Amino acid sequence: MPLIDSKALLIHALKNKYAVGAFNANNMEVAQAIIEAAELEKSPVIVQISQGAIKYAGIKCISSIVKTLAKESSVPVVCHLDHGVDYSVVVKALKAGFTSLMFDGSSLSFEENVKITKELARMAHAAGIPLEAEIGRVPDSEKGPLTLEEMKKYYTTPEEAKEFFEKTNVDSLAVSVGSAHRMKVQSAELDIDRIYEISSMVNAPLVLHGASGVKDEHVVRAIKAGITKVNFATELNKAFTNSLKEYFSQHPEIVDVRKYGESARKNVVNTVREKIQLLNSNNKADDVLKYISDNKFFESDKNLNEIVE
Ligand SMILES: [Zn+2]
Repeated sequence: MPLIDSKALLIHALKNKYAVGAFNANNMEVAQAIIEAAELEKSPVIVQISQGAIKYAGIKCISSIVKTLAKESSVPVVCHLDHGVDYSVVVKALKAGFTSLMFDGSSLSFEENVKITKELARMAHAAGIPLEAEIGRVPDSEKGPLTLEEMKKYYTTPEEAKEFFEKTNVDSLAVSVGSAHRMKVQSAELDIDRIYEISSMVNAPLVLHGASGVKDEHVVRAIKAGITKVNFATELNKAFTNSLKEYFSQHPEIVDVRKYGESARKNVVNTVREKIQLLNSNNKADDVLKYISDNKFFESDKNLNEIVE
């Protein structure tokens, strides 16, 4: 089926207390694995493409792969831009047919972040596409795990989340509640009370970034508290790369890309299936399709080129 946008999907998840997995696709094999896992679990799925993946694979190439796979798929698929930090990349993704966007202005001042996010939300909505934005900042742990004290400096406050949401009119909000990007070990615990507080003040789907490093039990509790989109990137990179390392150690003579590509792809399918079950989005595909056909959130009759130029 054609790609769906993330608006109705995340509202359905919020109402029904489950979360949708947003999995980063950096190449064809991983994109195939994500959608195959979603089909096996009868789950809706968000395939997300980061600015880094766009730089690596090219925006047309990687988004065309996702679009083609979605078209042949039996479950609803969203093609989402993950961490668009440049205004121009968000516009390019809109033009390239992404059906969900993120602008990450978390490194900017509050005022700058509001200003650019609001403008991009207006543009995206005119084209019938939802926008995610980030308030507070989900830190990066590439240089090693952060202490709780360090993590707290990045936390989203419920007050700033409310003000940001009201001023920008975004569709979903990424919040900093204890997770960090690029964690290779699943050890982070979340500030669950903070998620409840933000949810009580912001009536919108909340997004958990850096979920690869979060303990499973905390992911489940976060969903009860209002998280409805959960991002996994490092877990998929690990599944792909570890499989290759194992394959080469057992078959050092193999040079055929398809042989080891297939083993890595299978490993990613298994990882994505586990995450889908954790988020409880399995067996929700049909309900989502019905909800989407009954609820229209955007009415856009404008030509995309009129909107973005
Ligand atoms: Zn992120």
